[in-house]
Amino acid sequence: MPYRWKDDKRAYMQEWCQKSNSESKEAILNFYGRKCNWPGCTWTDPRALQLDHINGNGHLERKHFNDYRTKWKRVQEAPDEYQLLCANHNWVKRSEKKEFIQPLEINRSIGALPNK
Ligand SMILES: [Zn+2]
Repeated sequence: MPYRWKDDKRAYMQEWCQKSNSESKEAILNFYGRKCNWPGCTWTDPRALQLDHINGNGHLERKHFNDYRTKWKRVQEAPDEYQLLCANHNWVKRSEKKEFIQPLEINRSIGALPNK
């Protein structure tokens, strides 16, 4: 029964990916102290803690990967480029530092315009 084997393999791979992803998220949370890095913020609930790119440009990285296994590798390679922020402070930072995608930037990132 080839279909059963295929379904079993798919279920195994999904389970492995979910387990590996959640282990990597835990590793990231532990690495950055399991709390929001915003001055004065005491948020510790991991459901709303997000990995933030300190210098912005997270949207460029998310085009290439968006799984915690790869994020954990990147954190280990360049720990000073990231921080944990609660969801509220992540959005406040985006607003204050204007970390939203500009139309010109989108065109450059998809190759429609040359980089300057
Ligand atoms: Zn916060």
